[in-house]
Amino acid sequence: MSLEKYKKKRKFEKTPEPSGDYSEESKNRFVIHRHQAKKAGLHHDLRLEMEGVLRSWAIPKGTPQKKGVKRLAIQTEDHPIDYIDFEGEIPEGQYGGGKVEIFDQGRYELVEKDSNKIIFTLKGNKIRGRYILVKLKDQENQWLIFTSD
Ligand code: MN
Repeated sequence: MSLEKYKKKRKFEKTPEPSGDYSEESKNRFVIHRHQAKKAGLHHDLRLEMEGVLRSWAIPKGTPQKKGVKRLAIQTEDHPIDYIDFEGEIPEGQYGGGKVEIFDQGRYELVEKDSNKIIFTLKGNKIRGRYILVKLKDQENQWLIFTSD
């Protein structure tokens, strides 16, 4: 896990985002950001606290809340743990430019994890339940996310 990509993409004198650092402790928290990005459009960013960073996926059509709905989740660069509380306006022209708000946050329980699949239970205020992330074959960053029992 590394924050190199995260830092490379940002100019911290221009964005209010935390420069952050790798953390030794992980508390199994999660956040779902609602990101009104100027370029990519409105989407969710799901971030799971894991191994000292926030592993992150952009979900273009938003977090699925009904069983049977499968959505694309694009893995993005790991974010620093500090990002879990971030809300703000990333200036236009900067990476991810647009408004970032917290849609939901809380803890999650890890059920199963390997390099292609993560099963977890979200315990947020709005979103609660079992979720499955499955990496698509022969794709570098593309996963599917869906909810199940
Ligand atoms: Mn985003």
